[in-house]
Amino acid sequence: MTTANLTALTELVADEGAAATPDPTQRQATPGIEEFCAEAAELLGADGVIRDPAAREKASCDWAHMSPILSAKLPAGHAEVVLRPTAHEQIPHLLALAHRHRIPLTPRGKGTGNYGQAIPLSDGAVLDLTGCGRILAAGDGWIRAEAGAKMSDLEAHARTLGQELWMFPSTFGTTLGGFLSGGSGGTGSLVHKTNSDGFVTELTVAPCTADATPFTVRDADTLPYIHAYGTTGIITTATVRLQPARTWTGLFAAFTDWHSATAALSALVHLEPAPRLASLDEARLVRVYQPDPALDPTALSLRAIIEENAVDAARAIVASYSGQVREVRPAPDGPALISSMSFNHPTYHLMKAEDGWFHLEVAGDVLLGDTTEIKKVFPDTVLHLEGMRSGTVGMLMARYQDETTVYDGIAALQALGVGVHSPHNWYVDRRLDLVRDTARTADPLGLLNPGKIPAGSEEDA
Ligand SMILES: Cc1cc2nc3c(=O)[nH]c(=O)nc-3n(C[C@H](O)[C@H](O)[C@H](O)COP(=O)(O)OP(=O)(O)OC[C@H]3O[C@@H](n4cnc5c(N)ncnc54)[C@H](O)[C@@H]3O)c2cc1C
Repeated sequence: MTTANLTALTELVADEGAAATPDPTQRQATPGIEEFCAEAAELLGADGVIRDPAAREKASCDWAHMSPILSAKLPAGHAEVVLRPTAHEQIPHLLALAHRHRIPLTPRGKGTGNYGQAIPLSDGAVLDLTGCGRILAAGDGWIRAEAGAKMSDLEAHARTLGQELWMFPSTFGTTLGGFLSGGSGGTGSLVHKTNSDGFVTELTVAPCTADATPFTVRDADTLPYIHAYGTTGIITTATVRLQPARTWTGLFAAFTDWHSATAALSALVHLEPAPRLASLDEARLVRVYQPDPALDPTALSLRAIIEENAVDAARAIVASYSGQVREVRPAPDGPALISSMSFNHPTYHLMKAEDGWFHLEVAGDVLLGDTTEIKKVFPDTVLHLEGMRSGTVGMLMARYQDETTVYDGIAALQALGVGVHSPHNWYVDRRLDLVRDTARTADPLGLLNPGKIPAGSEEDA
């Protein structure tokens, strides 16, 4: 992992403790939890069954506190025990045990999901998978690892084989299982779209049934388990796609106006060979990043991870839209810095610098044009865009007033043609019918991450 990414991740993990923490004294113990813990200790050893209050509090939080709406609902659940298996083979035994004792069980990777996906809403056990981090095998175009393996370790291992991951999130050190179960995309999505679009070739999944026998699914059959927050089974191992490694470099450019910057972003997205990432920030965001000669805090910042042999073509694009190339910084530092300022990281940096913001995930090429009306919807709107060949996505950040204003504003943005995904609820909201159907057999007692599959009324809301 490079210094820039390591810094970003270290900050994230260190800040986790700052989130609101549940008050264990207010909750009733789940019936059977003591017997469950005693039997879990026989499977994992005493070190694998953690009842220490600080560890339980930490395992009860994720990055939901980025949402002022979710923050108001925290603490929202309390881990009574944290289970730490050290090999994927142990996971089915723990699921069978949870089934037998009727103990709610919430899987967890690094805990960086920002919709509260990893919060144990019904208490019970949190299954911390970070100890299951082995890379198991790799071949031409694929790598297979335990669910707790870090995305950064997968990329590093692939590089030793002359390959690289199709994609990884800006939280580079998070887990493979967490990224597949709670994340969407990242560096590499410019070409490869989301982690539901062919990235995953095989999953081994353990259901929460009496015998919890793991099963293997491939290609399109992996979809019910992706972005399902663990409600359809625990991913114990996963195989994801690699591509031949390329020599990447980081291009940093500055622009004075939105139209020129977005036109250059669109042109860079279609550069050949294709970039790995292309992001655009308003100057307001650049000012909250760590000062760097490649970033001009008074200008819009366009950044792209491009192949070394495309530098001249990229420079020509920037110049043709009256931009200024501030620096071309080779790997590892240039691309790592650009990745660490992508997707939800700008929101993180803004909120760290100043209180009072909220964010929405937005999409649509309408964001590339005149944003005057879009910016009238919420006070102090700031935009971060990611260029994709499948269409523009981004983050909209603005001053938080109250929950009603947020939902009214979402409707107003949609009326302007902006696609909006709200990060302010913890319900599974993709392929919901498929997830519900799959959960019926994979988790007949509803013990896996309970409370995340919406009932009809919540879905309507
Ligand atoms: C600042 C910031 C930037 C971010 N940038 C990105 C980004 O670029 N792209 C992106 O997609 N996301 C991003 N996210 C969201 C988050 O980082 C990703 O979802 C991340 O990859 C989650 O990994 P994790 O190991 O932290 O998983 P966790 O947060 O621990 O878990 C995520 C979900 O998956 C479930 N889960 C975990 N492991 C398993 C398993 N083995 N089997 C079944 N279910 C499981 C959990 O119960 C939870 O519901 C960002 C978040 C923050 C705070």
